[in-house]
Amino acid sequence: MPRSKNKATGLLWSRMMKKITITCPTCKKEAKQDDNPFRPFCSERCRLIDLGKWASEEYRIAGENKDIPDGEAGGENNSEKAG
Ligand SMILES: [Zn+2]
Repeated sequence: MPRSKNKATGLLWSRMMKKITITCPTCKKEAKQDDNPFRPFCSERCRLIDLGKWASEEYRIAGENKDIPDGEAGGENNSEKAG
């Protein structure tokens, strides 16, 4: 009875290593890993969405304790030239 060698394991491994996919954090879709400038996102759109999210979500400035002189209301002149 001829016994064939089990080469499938090695083949499977190389195939798996070749095809590595990541999940887009925005749309939870499969995103390409190589040749993808928007990693880990699948597209520029998803990347922008995520960027806008964190920018507006937790981007508050802590209240600064400054010595603000009370009573001084200067006249602000905003001269704007159109043209
Ligand atoms: Zn996406």
